[in-house]
Amino acid sequence: MEFEKMFTTEEQCLAYLQEFRFPSGYTCRKCGHKEYWVNNRGLLICKYCKDELSITAGTIFHRSKLPLTTIFRALWWMVAQKNGVSAVGLQRVLGLGSYRTAWTWLHKFRRLMVFPGRDKLSGNVEVDETLVGGKKSGKRGRGAEGKLLVVIAVEIMEKGTGRVRLSIIPDASKRTLTKFIKENIEEGSTLITDGWKGYVGISEKGYEHVIEDKTKMMDGQEVLPNIHRIASLLKRWLLGTHQNFIGEQYLSYYLDEYTFRHNRRKSHSRGLLFQRLIEQAVIHVPVEYKSIKSM
Ligand SMILES: [Zn+2]
Repeated sequence: MEFEKMFTTEEQCLAYLQEFRFPSGYTCRKCGHKEYWVNNRGLLICKYCKDELSITAGTIFHRSKLPLTTIFRALWWMVAQKNGVSAVGLQRVLGLGSYRTAWTWLHKFRRLMVFPGRDKLSGNVEVDETLVGGKKSGKRGRGAEGKLLVVIAVEIMEKGTGRVRLSIIPDASKRTLTKFIKENIEEGSTLITDGWKGYVGISEKGYEHVIEDKTKMMDGQEVLPNIHRIASLLKRWLLGTHQNFIGEQYLSYYLDEYTFRHNRRKSHSRGLLFQRLIEQAVIHVPVEYKSIKSM
């Protein structure tokens, strides 16, 4: 209800975006003056040089045919639902005319979910690979039955799991895995892996390395149980929310959404998550349907 009150009109949405676009107040991009008025098309006009600025120009909302009130509702719906929403679901909830519109906006939102300069994982971190996607279960190996190889890293906390990172990888070679580890996990952390040769020698790169030996496990005990949990939750999410209709070429964006949801699952303020994504949206370059579709 609070949301409905805040964003009833286009003007309210624009004013909200303006706060994030000009955190320290409007400044004319041409002459640097700070005084302006708003014309009847919602453009900001510099009082001195008459420069016209659209708040949405150069942002993810650039030239959108949908009203901002609808886009805001779509984003709110995506953030507020525990497991997110499919394009079909969003189309139904908002009464959108086309599936394509819903699909495109969800993809635009996913591009906002990786924050620049985010902290790497640290502490005790399990790392392993899994196969994702495809309709049938296939043989191990890249591309088997339309499956993609995904590497998962998850922090192990005293109780349960911490943050995760997921990435599609071309292979499980030492080179590929080392690159992922260096990009996503702080040096000095303890990596827990299985005995796969791709992880051999990682201790020389500034990490502690613990190898879980399958043969020493007790009956029913799993190697890397946290990874298995994340992998099965991910697959269930793709099957459940999205019925697996995601298209391989888009999987990395779904991994970003999954990571965003997992790492913020304990956040009590959905409103704050919405705000963080809007902040991202005003600095994000516009994304057109064509560029998403032609991937
Ligand atoms: Zn000016």
